[in-house]
Amino acid sequence: MSGEYMTDLFKKLSVGEALTDDEWTLLIEGSYDRQLLYDSADEVRRQHYGEKVYIRGLIEISSFCNNNCYYCGIRCANTNAERYRLSDEEIFRCCDAGYRLGFRTFVLQGGEDAYYTAERVKRIISTIKDNHPDCAVTLSLGERPRADYEVWYREGADRYLLRHETASRIHYEKLHPPDQSFSARMECLRALKEIGYQTGCGFMVGSPYQGTPELIADMRFLQAFQPHMVGIGPFIPHRDTPFAACAAGTLEQTLTMLALIRLMLPYVLLPATTALGTIHPEGRELGLKAGANVVMPNLSPGEVRKKYSLYDNKLCTDEEAAEGIAALRERIAAAGYEIVTDRGDARPDKNGRKELYK
Ligand code: SF4
Repeated sequence: MSGEYMTDLFKKLSVGEALTDDEWTLLIEGSYDRQLLYDSADEVRRQHYGEKVYIRGLIEISSFCNNNCYYCGIRCANTNAERYRLSDEEIFRCCDAGYRLGFRTFVLQGGEDAYYTAERVKRIISTIKDNHPDCAVTLSLGERPRADYEVWYREGADRYLLRHETASRIHYEKLHPPDQSFSARMECLRALKEIGYQTGCGFMVGSPYQGTPELIADMRFLQAFQPHMVGIGPFIPHRDTPFAACAAGTLEQTLTMLALIRLMLPYVLLPATTALGTIHPEGRELGLKAGANVVMPNLSPGEVRKKYSLYDNKLCTDEEAAEGIAALRERIAAAGYEIVTDRGDARPDKNGRKELYK
């Protein structure tokens, strides 16, 4: 397909036009110069964010989970998984260390673990906000009752990440056991946005049973939902899951989806994920060059990082760890971007859709 035709299609996407199935299929799997796509996405990202890369300090608070997602290494049925929970004090120490390193957003992520009651999480948020009032708190604790989300938001939590995993109900049911419901996941996302969180969703690229129609459904869902953040990374199999023998998602597939998301949602906060860094030594830099503008180094205590094993061979290098921020800063500078010490909140878009960006 000619470069001119593709450039017109990129423009159509970036002004919010609805694309046909054929146009989406061409963008996602067609044979065209991907560099043209990555460069267009990078240009859009630079228009809105310049060279800035926002850093989030990831604190993996618990590897216990009540759920059994077929793709996940810490699913409850995996008896080989090493389980741990961080105490409140350990979480606060991670935040203090992160603050000294320049982090102004802390992401508390864990499995769906009943130990973290609404009240306990509320106290944790309250203490972090008291200790670091200039920092944002992002939660990523899975599906919870709306009342929990409301309590945490009132206590000062700013953002919530909950990957939708796939926007196709049929596909969702192939990735999860029957007691995990697509409707419940979507209802949680809607609730989070209504409550006022900067809301993040996302999906794996190259997950089992995913084809182009499922990816088109994901893109149309993102276009309608208008999330503030989108977390996508390649599917990577874990040896102790039903999907152990499945192929991983590829670098090109993931970069293609990152770039298309940047074009479609120019203001979105888009991480170059650890999973991307895991499948390619320069995955994170390539992700930034394809439109991503966030990285999430690991602030968890060193001894638990390997235990939070969602997929095999998770990257635990120095640059991936928050303590390696200086090395990461250099690598990112070499790629042409700049890590900033900033909360990096979602912002209103140029079309005035401010109600989506509280
Ligand atoms: S993906 Fe999340 S909810 Fe599913 S088993 Fe893993 S930690 Fe639990």
